[in-house]
Amino acid sequence: MALRMAEINNQTLIMKLQHHIAASIIISGLLHAVFKSWTITTASFVSGIFIDLDHIIDYVITHGRRFDAKHFFRYFNNSECKKAIFILHGWEWLFILAAAAKLTGWNPLLTGVLIGFAQHLMLDQIFNKTSLLAYFFFWRWKHEFNHKVCMNEKQK
Ligand SMILES: [Zn+2]
Repeated sequence: MALRMAEINNQTLIMKLQHHIAASIIISGLLHAVFKSWTITTASFVSGIFIDLDHIIDYVITHGRRFDAKHFFRYFNNSECKKAIFILHGWEWLFILAAAAKLTGWNPLLTGVLIGFAQHLMLDQIFNKTSLLAYFFFWRWKHEFNHKVCMNEKQK
């Protein structure tokens, strides 16, 4: 999860949207310097940020179609949410993306999406206070997407 990276009481860091944007700018810039491909650069930048759009789906499932941006950020930042579906946040999808990119001869669009997706998940995994398995979609499913179980407890 998460849309923020900030110090909280126990010094844990949480990824914040603006940090995903900064990371995506840096990674995409490096990719452009290496590959000189706007397709890889743009795909990496967009996927590195917009994976978090899946939070909107979770929000709508809980609150209906009425979308309140202020409440949306408060809902996730204060851990008010009860479910952690976050359908795009899954290492499983990364394996599928990697296979698709390889099978297409490293198509620039798929490769860019793969890199952006990978860096986003890695940053979430490293900086968000979660269990080690929290970013496996099917593991969250096994735990009925219970936010407390999936995202808050260390299970090392
Ligand atoms: Zn995320």
